[in-house]
Amino acid sequence: IWERVRRRLRAEFGEDVFNSWFKSIEIDQAAGEMVRLSVPTRFLKSWIENHYKDRILTRWREEAGQDVHIDVIVRTAVSARPSVRPKPAVEPARSPMPAAPNRSFDNAPLIQGHGEALGGSPLDPRLTFETFVQGRSNTLARAAALQVAQSRSSDAVLFNPLYIHAGVGLGKTHLLQAISGTAQAAGRRILYLTAEKFTFGFVASLKNQTAMAFKEALRNIDLLIIDDLQFLQGKQTQAEFCHTLNALIDAGRQVVVAGDRPPSDLENLDERVRSRLAGGLTVEIGPLDENLRLDILKQKLTHAKVQHQGFDVPLAVLGYVAKNVTQNGRDLDGAFNRLLATNRLTAQPVTIEMAERSIRDLVRVAEPKRIKIEEIQKIVAQHYNVSRSDILSSRRTATVVRPRQIAMYLAKTLTLRSLPEIGRRFGGRDHTTVLHAVRKIEGLVGQDPALNEEVEVLKRRLND
Ligand code: ADP
Ligand code: MG
Repeated sequence: IWERVRRRLRAEFGEDVFNSWFKSIEIDQAAGEMVRLSVPTRFLKSWIENHYKDRILTRWREEAGQDVHIDVIVRTAVSARPSVRPKPAVEPARSPMPAAPNRSFDNAPLIQGHGEALGGSPLDPRLTFETFVQGRSNTLARAAALQVAQSRSSDAVLFNPLYIHAGVGLGKTHLLQAISGTAQAAGRRILYLTAEKFTFGFVASLKNQTAMAFKEALRNIDLLIIDDLQFLQGKQTQAEFCHTLNALIDAGRQVVVAGDRPPSDLENLDERVRSRLAGGLTVEIGPLDENLRLDILKQKLTHAKVQHQGFDVPLAVLGYVAKNVTQNGRDLDGAFNRLLATNRLTAQPVTIEMAERSIRDLVRVAEPKRIKIEEIQKIVAQHYNVSRSDILSSRRTATVVRPRQIAMYLAKTLTLRSLPEIGRRFGGRDHTTVLHAVRKIEGLVGQDPALNEEVEVLKRRLND
């Protein structure tokens, strides 16, 4: 009977669903009205109980021509576990990375034993498309996010994966959560996860020997949303992430990823993941300009007024904050919250002086500019009247060797890039070549005032 039931389920749900959920089911016992099915994991057990048990029951009754009672159990550890022990659970990161700045991950296992609890990272209901203010720097990212959030799984998948990158506090998480909320409300199966939590979940699943369930859970969603990709740690985890990415995309499911830099700059990332990301759509969110900062503050005020009776902020004060608290959305949040707190605590109206006092430490003297390696190459090439491709080439004539060394030296001193990364960006050179160039120029500027002056001129031009 089970064979016939299986065949019908396969026909009914299709190969994909069948393989994901039904394939590993075995008959443990079938005696009269009592049927006991076994599955390898607790996750599968609860998933089947919650989603498919009724269907199995119906089919079984039809095939058997009598009423039955179905029970699902987890097969005993001995038969279910692989004989080879998994690798040590914690793998060393390839290079030290700073800890995630906020939103710490909790210790709940990624996959729990009950219901369909597939513990994604929590969603903040305030982070929606409605509260995301559009500006010049985020129009494209917002449009792409909206498109992805509103598309149905049957639609042609336009941007897959969609990769959004931006510096801290520019709205990546806000957009990802807006996508998550919208898609979830439309009934799509979504999973929103920080890369850190993905790492944790995968490592924990190895330790608990539930890696299969981990994989299954990740394959059976319509939309996977991964935040802070720069915190995806460890070779094995990255390889697993790559499999997930491939499986989902090949199955026509949408993947959205956010990170703090363009794919080409994710130095510790598995090359396969990088190229898969580069094959989708990459959009950047630029710094929040003053207009956008003002619009965001206005919106915050509108919301705050609803919640806090009598609270108001004169437009001039919003303008002051927008002008002085630069670039980062988190600082903007902080500044606004202080105005609100000060007003609530002192019952004093919000004025410019009050704003000045309460946000003093958030006011930045113009942030140092982020200089790009391409720009250094361009400016240096221009200055020495060679082409940028000469600089990247392997030509060793004196006219290009020195400019190339200077460009590498500037790349090392003006950006935070590592030597191997700089080598890569200079036509695939070895990090020792870069190191040699840096030392050479360091030595020369100490001895040669003319060269020193030239380097200073180049620095000034780059900082303009
Ligand atoms: P990221 O994830 O890029 O570091 P977040 O999405 O956490 O940044 O944004 C930081 C704060 O700034 C959040 O409170 C967010 O709501 C706010 N923010 C950023 N961009 C916008 C925007 N365009 N409209 C409204 N709020 C924004
Ligand atoms: Mg974020």
